[in-house]
Amino acid sequence: MDAEQMLSSLSNVTDETEFYAPMPAGYKPGKTKYVIVFGTVMSGLGKGIFSSSLAKCLQDKGLTVAPMKLEGYLNVDSGTLNPYRHGEVFVLDDGMETDMDLGTYERMLDQDLSRLHFATSGQIFTRVLDKERKGSYLGRDVQMIPHVTGEVKIKLRELAVVTDADVVFVEIGGTVGDVENAYFIEAMRELAFEEGPDSCAFVALTYIISPPMLGEQKSKAAQLGIKRLLAAGIQPHILACRGREPVSHKVREKLALYSNVRIENVFSMHDSESIYLIPDMLRGAGLDEAVIKLLKIEDRIHPESETAARQAWNDFVQRIRSAKREIRIGIMGKYTSVRDSYASIIHALEHAGTNQGCHVQIEWVDTTDVTDETAGQVLAHVDGIIVPGGFGIRGTEGKIACIKHARENGLPYLGLCYGFQMAVIEFARNVCGLEDANSTELDQDTPHAVIDILPEQKQIEGLGGNMRLGGRDMLIKPNTQAWRLFNGAPEIRMRFRHRYEVDPKYIERLEAGGMVFSGKAPDYPIMQILELPVEVHPYFIGTQAHPELQSRPLRPQPLFMGLVRAALDYSDRRQERTARQSGTKAAKSAK
Ligand code: GLN
Repeated sequence: MDAEQMLSSLSNVTDETEFYAPMPAGYKPGKTKYVIVFGTVMSGLGKGIFSSSLAKCLQDKGLTVAPMKLEGYLNVDSGTLNPYRHGEVFVLDDGMETDMDLGTYERMLDQDLSRLHFATSGQIFTRVLDKERKGSYLGRDVQMIPHVTGEVKIKLRELAVVTDADVVFVEIGGTVGDVENAYFIEAMRELAFEEGPDSCAFVALTYIISPPMLGEQKSKAAQLGIKRLLAAGIQPHILACRGREPVSHKVREKLALYSNVRIENVFSMHDSESIYLIPDMLRGAGLDEAVIKLLKIEDRIHPESETAARQAWNDFVQRIRSAKREIRIGIMGKYTSVRDSYASIIHALEHAGTNQGCHVQIEWVDTTDVTDETAGQVLAHVDGIIVPGGFGIRGTEGKIACIKHARENGLPYLGLCYGFQMAVIEFARNVCGLEDANSTELDQDTPHAVIDILPEQKQIEGLGGNMRLGGRDMLIKPNTQAWRLFNGAPEIRMRFRHRYEVDPKYIERLEAGGMVFSGKAPDYPIMQILELPVEVHPYFIGTQAHPELQSRPLRPQPLFMGLVRAALDYSDRRQERTARQSGTKAAKSAK
C-alpha cells in the first residue's frame, strides 16, 4: 500500500470525539517501537551521527530499523536550500531532496531511504491544508493540536507500516526551544501517550560546556535545555552528553538529579577521533542495552548477527588506522570553505581510500582566478582532481582550465555532474575545435551549446523540485573503463540532480574527437558517463550523476575507487619524478 492509499484509509476523524489518533491501515500497535532524539543547548552537536550510530547498534543486533528526520523549516524539501548555509542537498533514489543527515543514515545503516523517511513542516502543512480543502476534517476547525500533530504521527506510523520496522528512529532537527519544532515535540508526547508504556525511548542530546578560564565542566546550560523538554511534557529516559572530554561523574550526578534521569542512563558522548568509532563507543557505554531494556525488546535480538556485523565494521575501522600511504585529491569547489556542502564526496573518498589502504588528503581549490597558464602550478601537488556538482558561472573558466591541464598531463580526473559538463565543454573547445563552446547555463549566446537544458525541463517554471531528480538506470558500454569498474554489469543505477545535459546533436562530433560515452540512459539520448580511453589517459571520467551519494563504508563507489587507484599510481610517478629531479640537482651542485 502506498502513502496515498494509506491516507485515504484514515477514517477516525469525527465531530464526536476530541481524540485524533490516526492509524494507517495495516498499523500494528505495539509492533514498532520509537526512539526519539531531541537536541538541547545548541545545534551542530552531531545529532545525526549520534542517532544513526545508535540505530546501527540496534540494526547490528538483527533488528529492523527505520530512521525518520523531522525538519522544522517551512520549505517543502531541502532542494531550495543554500548548501553554504545548510550543508549539501542529499538526493534519495526516489528523487526526494533532503537534508544531509539522510546521507549519514544511508551510509551508517547501508540502507536506501525514501521520502517516507523525511518530513519538513512545509510537507506537513501542505498535507493538512490539502485535506482541509477536500473537507476531510468534517466541519472541524483545523488546529495545531490535534490535526497538525496528528499529521506528524501519521508520517511516523506510515513509515512503521511500510518498513515493518522494529524500531523507528526519530531525529528532530534543530533544538528544543525553536518555535518551528514545538509541534513536533508535542506530537512525540502524544505518540508516547497513545502507544502506551514501553513504546517510546526519549533521548536528549545535550552539551556540557567547559570554559577554558574555569578549567571545569559546567552543566547549567544542559540543565536549562532539559528543563525546556520537561516543560513540554517530555520526560527524557536517557541523556547523552556531548563534550570535548569524558563527562565527569559529578556532572552526570547533577544532571540526573535535575532531570529525573537515573545516573546509569546519563551517558558521556565525548568527542571521538573518527565517526566510525561512535557505534562501538555507544555499545561500550551500554546505551544500546539501555534502549532495548526501556523498549522491552530483549526477545527480538540476535546476538550472533551482532558479532558478525561488528567484526566487519571493526575491520573497516582497523583499515583506516593502518593505512600507510597518502594521496592528495584537489576538489575545485565554489563552497570551498564549507566542508558540509561536499560531505558525500569527502566520505566517498574516505571509503575508497580506506579500501585501498591510503589516507586521502583533500586540497580545496578556489578556481576563480585559475587560468590555462596557472593551472599547472595550482595542481602541482595533487594526485588527482574532482570537479564537483555546482550551479552558476563563478569559477567555471578556472575549472575548465584545470580539466584541460588534467587531460593533457595524465592527471586523474573525476567530474561529478557539473564536472561532467565542464569536461565536455573543455573537450569541445580544445580537442574538437568548437570555439567558445559552452553550456547555455553559462552563456545563452554561445555558438556551440554543447550543454543545453533538457527538453523536458524547458516547460518547468520556478525553482523548487524542477530538476531531473533521483535514481535512473544507465546502460554501460562493454569493454570501457566504466564497464570494468562496474565489474561488467550491463546496467547500473545512479542518482541525478540536474537540468542541463549534452545536446545530442554534438555527440557524434565529440566521439569523433575521441571522447567515449560509456554510460547512457536506456530510453533517451542522455549521456551519463564519459571517459577517455586508457591508451590516451590513465583515468579521465565524468558522470552526469552523483555517484558520491551511493558510496558506503563497506561498499565504496566504483568511480571513486578508480580515481583513488589512479591517484596512487600518479603519486608513485610524481614521487619518482621529484626524486629524479632532486637527484639531478644534487649531482649538478656536487659538480
Ligand atoms: N548546473 C548543472 C545542471 O543543472 C549541474 C547541476 C549539478 O551539478 N548538480 O545541469
